[in-house]
Amino acid sequence: MGNRDALPAFIGIGSNLGDAEAYVARAWDELGRLPRTRLAARSSLYRSAPLYYTEQADFVNAVARLDTSLPALDLLDALLSIERRCGRQRRRLNGPRTLDLDLLLYGRQVITHGRLTVPHPGLAVRRFALEPLLELDPDCVIPGVGAAADCLERCLDQPLKKIA
Ligand code: AMP
Repeated sequence: MGNRDALPAFIGIGSNLGDAEAYVARAWDELGRLPRTRLAARSSLYRSAPLYYTEQADFVNAVARLDTSLPALDLLDALLSIERRCGRQRRRLNGPRTLDLDLLLYGRQVITHGRLTVPHPGLAVRRFALEPLLELDPDCVIPGVGAAADCLERCLDQPLKKIA
């Protein structure tokens, strides 16, 4: 892209409804088409057991690195619109979803807004987000928290398996 204003943003991807791996493939495709944005890297795919509402299928998870000059709220809106195009309906908190896209990190910024909290509040305590993130950025520091690798050490009891 060659845009001097571009920031690295990391997106958490999750799916556990329908053909989950196909939804993740769709996410790579849609993220790669966002305006003012380049899909810079994709993690491996992982399988995780559901954490909160446990009566549902395992999730397929991954993380994307974008280089983007979209403002954070515009990026959030673009992620929500990809979720909607993939048929996501919010029926139950933490319930099954065709595609969940979370803005995990936006450069080194800390954002506290009515619609957007960055770093994503779940990031530091979720192995399924930390492990693919560290695959893309082994020295990642979560602003206001610390080294992502230290966070991962604390949640290794959560089952996670690399699948592809
Ligand atoms: P959920 O789909 O359950 O992850 O929740 C999505 C809602 O969380 C959206 O409507 C956003 O406004 C809000 N939200 C707050 N911070 C974030 C973030 N970092 N990434 C994605 N959604 C966020």
